[in-house]
Amino acid sequence: MTEKLPLPKKVTVCEVAPRDGFQAISTWIPTDEKIKIIRRLAQTGISSLEIASFVHPRAIPQMKDADKVVSTVIESLGGIDIRALVPNLKGAERAVDAGVMKLKTMLSATDSHSLSNANATSKDAQQKLTPIFDFAAKKNVTVMGSISVAFGCPFEGKVPVERLIEIISRYDAMGVKEISLADTTGMAHPKQVYESLAILQKEFPEMVYSMHFHNTRGMALANTLAALQRGVTRYDSAISGLGGCPYAPGASGNVATEDVVHMLEEMNIKTGINERNLLDASREISEMLQIKGDSYLLVAGPTSTLHEEKITKQKKVEQ
Ligand code: ZN
Repeated sequence: MTEKLPLPKKVTVCEVAPRDGFQAISTWIPTDEKIKIIRRLAQTGISSLEIASFVHPRAIPQMKDADKVVSTVIESLGGIDIRALVPNLKGAERAVDAGVMKLKTMLSATDSHSLSNANATSKDAQQKLTPIFDFAAKKNVTVMGSISVAFGCPFEGKVPVERLIEIISRYDAMGVKEISLADTTGMAHPKQVYESLAILQKEFPEMVYSMHFHNTRGMALANTLAALQRGVTRYDSAISGLGGCPYAPGASGNVATEDVVHMLEEMNIKTGINERNLLDASREISEMLQIKGDSYLLVAGPTSTLHEEKITKQKKVEQ
């Protein structure tokens, strides 16, 4: 009997291009185009979408039309789990006004990243999130807690798992049920992901983890496999590998949705996403944004695409 690698049978891939991807593009993307891209993404069969960031327009000008974008499209995205990133109470109010029922907080694991991002230490920044939770409870809105630079920080290096335990303990006390672990600058490696998750799952057995890998150093797919081996079923990715972090020097794109979906489907792990449609969407969106998409699939195509045999020709050359 062959031994099988124990992996989940089904996972949720959350498309984050409209947030993480757009915010990393400095040239203005017109509101209509953002809406068009979100609608195109919805046609691929995605079940989860991070739709915008409700930050102060001065912090990230690209997100200044978040209210308009979200309130325009949200009605047409029935069946898709929509969430938005919010840095503070004002952002949470704007997101809920636009129709968002799931919020994701912003928080850095390290003090250096937190000071440059939120102008407060990580602990202080987390305490400052309390009004979001109070507001969400009143509005019956879910809040998931995120941790940026969760595995490595461009200013401080490796992040010890003890730091994550402290932060998750505080989130736990705030009523959080789902944690996003973000490898914002692509510093995590598979062994670290596997071992950190093992510790965190033991420490907080009820907590749901959602992984957010950037492919800065080409380890995102390997990290995904490590998390799959820990039974994690939620993953973020961005079409065409869009993304970056405006507060993290040198951060490159999120792992590309088409690459993640392709790997998962090849391993017979269901995502509900139509691979062909997704790859077409990646090409169309790259064209719309006038960027060169960054994914393996855009270059090589899926493994199911077979190429014409060149044996006859090769034989001739050999003769
Ligand atoms: Zn990110």
